[in-house]
Amino acid sequence: MTTTPAYGAVSATAQLQPLTIQRRELGPRDVRVAIDFCGICHSDIHTVRGEWGPQQYPLVPGHEITGRVAQVGHEVSKHRVGDRVGVGTLVGSCGACGNCAGGHEQYCVEGPIDTYAATDRDGTRTQGGYATGIVVDEDFVLKIPDGLSLEAAAPLLCAGVTTWSPLRHWRAGPGTRVAVVGLGGLGHMGVKLAHALGAEVTVLSRTPAKRETALALGADAYYATSDPSTFTELAGSFDLILNTVSARLDLEALVDLLATDGALVSLGWPSEPMGIRVGPLISQRRSLTGSLTGGIAETQQMLDFCAEHGVVPEIEVISAYEINDAWERMLAADVRYRFVIDISTLR
Ligand code: NAP
Ligand code: ZN
Repeated sequence: MTTTPAYGAVSATAQLQPLTIQRRELGPRDVRVAIDFCGICHSDIHTVRGEWGPQQYPLVPGHEITGRVAQVGHEVSKHRVGDRVGVGTLVGSCGACGNCAGGHEQYCVEGPIDTYAATDRDGTRTQGGYATGIVVDEDFVLKIPDGLSLEAAAPLLCAGVTTWSPLRHWRAGPGTRVAVVGLGGLGHMGVKLAHALGAEVTVLSRTPAKRETALALGADAYYATSDPSTFTELAGSFDLILNTVSARLDLEALVDLLATDGALVSLGWPSEPMGIRVGPLISQRRSLTGSLTGGIAETQQMLDFCAEHGVVPEIEVISAYEINDAWERMLAADVRYRFVIDISTLR
């Protein structure tokens, strides 16, 4: 076991605090990553605060991890000491089911092993990237391309791939009309990636406040959902809507914005039910669906695409001792557009 300084929660209601956690001994196929940066995802808050169900504590969140390879097990062939690498939302899966074989490890039928708050193969609890190091099977370690800095690459490991995967699956590109609802960490990556893929992009945010920055991110149009005329003006307008909102909202109003055969994809993950009437789905053969992060191969593909096309998240780098404030600011949607923890401040 290796003792690792970390920052995490001892209960659902406590402020996050400095902690010491144990990482497993390096196995033959393991990579030890010295963490440089970790992004803050809204899922960290949902999980730690028990919004997705009761948790075991202490709990160290964080699944937007970048750093350098510090040590490799003797069977590791994909990574070498010193490589710039990333770890996202997954650290394991069965490797044998159809979804794993197809590169969709996030949909592993045995249940993927999440980077934190999950039971690992050895029975221990996984702990995330608000920590100075992590030990991960080499197959779940991504390569950070030279063109991306480690701090800017961090949010790509969750916010990036979570928006990339549905954009690719529903074939966003030239001639498609994509709307992104909620302009936070996921939303701003959805805008950048959809724009880079050639789609026409509209942002739907609650107020007009983010208009200028949304257009600068690559949006072609911007509407405030607080203005009722938005919903009449845009009725039937979109082939694909990515809903990245972290709270419950009126899905039926969004379904009405879909064109025939359009899809509304839930990415935002509030725990409350969000019922709708099926008529608006039936009348235009629209789909209401969801999407979970991305597989390992598509995550690498997204990282390479971002390096090639200069797609980088807008980040605010903070010290570990600002995490509690950052969580409060995130809950108030006061982040443009992702907090990234400088892990050197934990050492
Ligand atoms: P975030 O940075 O906090 O962004 C969420 C955005 O939602 C806010 O910026 C805000 O946008 C909007 N919003 C917040 N509260 C709202 C409310 N009460 N009513 C309407 N809109 C509200 O969060 P994030 O990290 O992007 O994560 C967003 C959601 O995706 C979370 O629920 C997270 O757990 C989930 N998630 C899902 C996956 C997946 O695999 N599906 C992966 C990662 C995260 P405006 O100010 O522009 O309105
Ligand atoms: Zn996340």
